[in-house]
Amino acid sequence: MRLVEKAFKGLFSDMDFIYTDVVKYSGRFKGFNANVKLNRFTKTITFCLSRNWQGVDESIRIGLLQGLMLRLFKKKGRTTNMDLYENFIKNIHIAVPKNKSNPVLEQSFNRINKLYFAGMVDKPNLRLGKNSIRTLGNYDYGTDTITISSVLLNHIDLLDYVMYHEILHKKHKFKFKNGRSFHHTKTFKKNEKTYPNSKELEDKLSRILRKKKLFLFL
Ligand SMILES: [Zn+2]
Repeated sequence: MRLVEKAFKGLFSDMDFIYTDVVKYSGRFKGFNANVKLNRFTKTITFCLSRNWQGVDESIRIGLLQGLMLRLFKKKGRTTNMDLYENFIKNIHIAVPKNKSNPVLEQSFNRINKLYFAGMVDKPNLRLGKNSIRTLGNYDYGTDTITISSVLLNHIDLLDYVMYHEILHKKHKFKFKNGRSFHHTKTFKKNEKTYPNSKELEDKLSRILRKKKLFLFL
């Protein structure tokens, strides 16, 4: 049986597999990202997987495909393969090479890690992002990378606050349900609010972003 059919049968044992399937590995994706498309006319399911998935154990890849299929067909379910997939993604950061850094971000990371995490968080890759006001910060699980927008370089208090948010992502990881991952959970938000002056910092952040936006439109 082919990989996709196996994954399908593992989820929907009583349904017939009536699709043509394509699995592509692509260098377009960062980390361990992937997506799926269904052409309802030709009944072709196309999975596009990051090249990093090549060589990963079949049982884990099946879990990935199953999660994507649940989302595609808007169904609920859980399989052993999906457990394996979740474990894999949650532990990938251990194996990922740590070779990106930036002096300002590193100082911020060390400061926040020491103050709020008792220095217990392992240093991820740290990357300065574009001058973006849309994405101020991001944590990517597949590459274990925190990216912070260079917009924040002139506001160290805000940079630290966004750094705190991204470290929380690394620490809390995510909740995985029916093929979807949930990142800003209740616990996450509760934790985020414990940051000193978080309300004021949020206000300052939106003021600066508004100004920047105005500036961009001039
Ligand atoms: Zn977030």
